[in-house]
Amino acid sequence: MLDYLVVGLGLAGISFCEQLERKGKSFKVISDNSQQASLVAGGLYNPVILKRFTLAWNAKEQLDLALPFYEELEKKLKVKLDYKIQVLRRFASAEEQNSWFEASDKPGLNYFLDQNIISNANTNLDSPFGYGQVRYTGRIKTKTLLERYTSYLNDKGLLVEETCDFDALEILKDEIIYKDMKAKQVVFSEGYGLKKNPFFNYLPLNGTKGELLTIKAPKLKESKVIKSSVFIIPLGDDLYRIGATYKWKDKTNLPTQESREELIEKLKTFLKCDFEVVEHVAGIRPTVADRRPLVGRHPEYNNLYVLNGFGSRGVIIAPYASKQLFQFIELGDKLNIEMDISRFTAKHYFG
Ligand SMILES: Cc1cc2nc3c(=O)[nH]c(=O)nc-3n(C[C@H](O)[C@H](O)[C@H](O)COP(=O)(O)OP(=O)(O)OC[C@H]3O[C@@H](n4cnc5c(N)ncnc54)[C@H](O)[C@@H]3O)c2cc1C
Repeated sequence: MLDYLVVGLGLAGISFCEQLERKGKSFKVISDNSQQASLVAGGLYNPVILKRFTLAWNAKEQLDLALPFYEELEKKLKVKLDYKIQVLRRFASAEEQNSWFEASDKPGLNYFLDQNIISNANTNLDSPFGYGQVRYTGRIKTKTLLERYTSYLNDKGLLVEETCDFDALEILKDEIIYKDMKAKQVVFSEGYGLKKNPFFNYLPLNGTKGELLTIKAPKLKESKVIKSSVFIIPLGDDLYRIGATYKWKDKTNLPTQESREELIEKLKTFLKCDFEVVEHVAGIRPTVADRRPLVGRHPEYNNLYVLNGFGSRGVIIAPYASKQLFQFIELGDKLNIEMDISRFTAKHYFG
């Protein structure tokens, strides 16, 4: 009898497995590759919403948990995952500079926004109004994390690489049977794949497709993340990730010509040197109507749980939400009310 079965191995699944391992719980994971969000993500952690100069939801608390969490993972997997890198917000006008000054004075935001305006020193970037710098930012190499975690689980015989067959789940009062496995509880962390989960698909997960390009730009020589109409994220070796798009209709993981053109067009408004596109990827962000995660217990089955809805901030939300879920199940602690799925219980019964 396992303590847990975890369905879906993206940032959510990995973070929950880590709670389990660190607390000595037994588990197995079932996962396929139908969703790609954690694999293709830009991986940035940045506590500020750079469109509006506001703080992201609970960002400070999440960041304070996330950084030691990834540090532990680096030690365990013996791989570098966390790259501290500055994020510069390009200003489009003097008004934007003023809004930045105002924002950087506000409690909470003043911790993260540097008041100085940084002038542009890169001749291959057009930025006459300069930049504002965000503090305590960085990038987690999510693809490396996923690949290394997959091998780690495989080596321990804890990963079943298949699509969960929901019809094969036999839910009894004190246990769940799935094929040759038995567990006390199941945690579903399938990202946008939740849509196919008959137990939790009443939850309002919208899904927002995002596409990213990787370019090679030997003349650019930029070491910081530049945020304008698109992000430029330095990867090393003259490679940069460019993204991302936001599309609400198409729910496939397929890259499109339309998004490629959109990204290139936006990039060319401020990038002045030649570049070549070397990669193009797409994935679906698990976004929720009210922009809060979906975490908690099923309204009818007390041994089924969900961990989802991290939107475009999975890197910092995953460690926080998974810790909350673990303590909710094991210690009976209350979940942060804003992400507790009990806010949608009426939808389960009445649609
Ligand atoms: C283009 C793009 C850029 C992004 N950039 C950033 C960024 O810079 N910073 C940031 O913090 N976030 C970013 N995000 C968001 C981030 O990727 C997500 O918040 C996060 O990856 C979601 O993780 P998840 O584990 O919930 O879902 P997923 O990563 O989708 O993982 C779910 C896993 O479950 C599996 N699965 C699904 N259904 C089943 C099933 N029935 N049976 C078995 N397995 C199943 C899937 O195949 C997948 O492996 C970005 C997302 C996109 C698309």
